[in-house]
Amino acid sequence: MSDRVLVTLDHEVRDADAPLLHADDLAVVRGDGVFETLLVRGGRALKVEPHLTRLVASARALGLPVQDLDDWRLALELAVEEWGSEREGAMRLVLSRGRESGGDATAFVTVGPVSDRILDARRDGVSVLTLARGYSVDLSASAPWQLLGAKTLSYATNMAALRYAATFGADDVIFVSSEGNVLEGPRSTVVIAREKTLLTPPPEHGILPGTTQQALYEVASGKGFRCEYAALRPADLITAEGVWLISSITMAARVRKIDGLALPDAPLADEIVELVDLAVETSGAESAE
Ligand code: PLP
Repeated sequence: MSDRVLVTLDHEVRDADAPLLHADDLAVVRGDGVFETLLVRGGRALKVEPHLTRLVASARALGLPVQDLDDWRLALELAVEEWGSEREGAMRLVLSRGRESGGDATAFVTVGPVSDRILDARRDGVSVLTLARGYSVDLSASAPWQLLGAKTLSYATNMAALRYAATFGADDVIFVSSEGNVLEGPRSTVVIAREKTLLTPPPEHGILPGTTQQALYEVASGKGFRCEYAALRPADLITAEGVWLISSITMAARVRKIDGLALPDAPLADEIVELVDLAVETSGAESAE
């Protein structure tokens, strides 16, 4: 059982410890590319088709050539095979514009271990800081070059926000727009519960459409929940009956503290974790085009 796996889109299994990129790869010098992160569990990658659909949408937003999805499917199957079925893995699909000096796009799949931080967040929940994102919910529609709904390789500010939060002892962040609306986490979707209604901010507000939140909504709406998209304010987080950061690898991290304020226990906590678990196992049966 190897500790990391690397498969390139030509379906070659490579040495994950050997160098792969050229020094002028536009992923490296510009963050000019897109990626996806998927959970590998029980010897398969979860929600493959929703992730491929989003990869294509992100690539289109950047004007990147859209790859043959069957090449991605085969590469990720090979990567899963190499990883094995014994333990969970965090898979990345990476697509960059390629070398500045020209040539093909750079495309590869990696799998690595799920970190202790993620296991802690699943088990214990997280404390979060709300932080200004610095843009309005209108920006996405009026400035498509901002790439707000695309999962680009430019995650430096997301990681900086997490480091900033850590200096205040917080595990994670919820971004807030310039008019004070809840947006998303740097690597997750915000979902809150009000009795049997789940609410999340609409993707049109300049956030990434979450594949896990969408899968949760599909499953939860069949189990008696109303599932809605709505503008949320930080006060809605405080008065909710549960707040979660939802994402592919962590799945459901219950928010236990916001800006230092402890939230009461969520009556739906176990049910939401079970629903997300079911959702990620069953989602994505249909092929992306
Ligand atoms: N929002 C951002 C900014 C993210 O980076 C992620 C995770 O990658 C998400 C939301 C959640 O998306 P998903 O559930 O598809 O992992």
